Amino acid sequence: SRREGFSTIPNVKWEDVGGLDILRKEFDRYIVRRVKYPELHEEFGLDMETGFLLYGPPGCGKTLIAKAIANEAGVNFIHIKGPELLNKYVGESEQAVRTLFSRARTCSPCILFFDEVDALTTQRGKEGGWVVERLLNQLLTELDGADQRQGVFVIGATNRPEVMDRAVLRPGRFGKLLYVPLPGPVERGLILKALARKKPIDASVDLSAIGRMKACENLSGADLAALMHEAAMAALDDKLASNESRLITSPWTIKSTHFELALTKIS
Ligand code: ATP
Repeated sequence: SRREGFSTIPNVKWEDVGGLDILRKEFDRYIVRRVKYPELHEEFGLDMETGFLLYGPPGCGKTLIAKAIANEAGVNFIHIKGPELLNKYVGESEQAVRTLFSRARTCSPCILFFDEVDALTTQRGKEGGWVVERLLNQLLTELDGADQRQGVFVIGATNRPEVMDRAVLRPGRFGKLLYVPLPGPVERGLILKALARKKPIDASVDLSAIGRMKACENLSGADLAALMHEAAMAALDDKLASNESRLITSPWTIKSTHFELALTKIS
């Protein structure tokens, strides 16, 4: 896997994302088709850059969907963790922000993804003090330089939108707010199906039914990924055990019993 901050087109496909269809449509309109048909956007005078804020509980697909958009649009992806820019000496944070945007411009079109963006944009006068304030001002300057931002799509992600400075939530900055919710029963099934794409799931397993189970209530996408992982491990345990006893019962697949066992492990 690549180093943090390194730009590359991610290999996450839309099929890897379960649910979140509304977000897909929004990003398709705002980013994917903009990259594909720049001349049409000129024709309609659509020259304003849009920035996005994905907010919602942890582990529900904010990073995943941002990567999938980059893949779909065929653009570079720069992943920045908010607190990373803060771990600098005074003055260096601002330089880091400038460098980041200039690097983004040189590899545009690209998506500049700020994970934990709240760390950079906490309301002025609250936590963090003046280092944060200066960094925030620099960030606003970069975000507002829209004409130099061509082709740099900015997406922020946070679990705590309420602590963010209102100024960064204006149009052109992180102005378009999109909620990424905890999955419901149907979405959990869709996420499990997305996670199952490259796994030998037994034909008898009903992933939609598992998604609807009471035991899966309140599980995030990340929890469901852990469930899938445990189920696959349990199936592997069985396969190895049977190899040792030389039983011939292949092909080996991930069965309902493995999911049942996995459910006891993750809760
Ligand atoms: P955080 O706020 O903690 O950064 P996040 O919302 O960015 O979380 P992701 O990093 O996108 O969450 O998700 C973590 C992992 O959980 C993904 O790599 C994936 O395996 C799984 N996952 C989460 N949501 C989904 C989803 N909607 N479809 C498929 N897998 C998902």
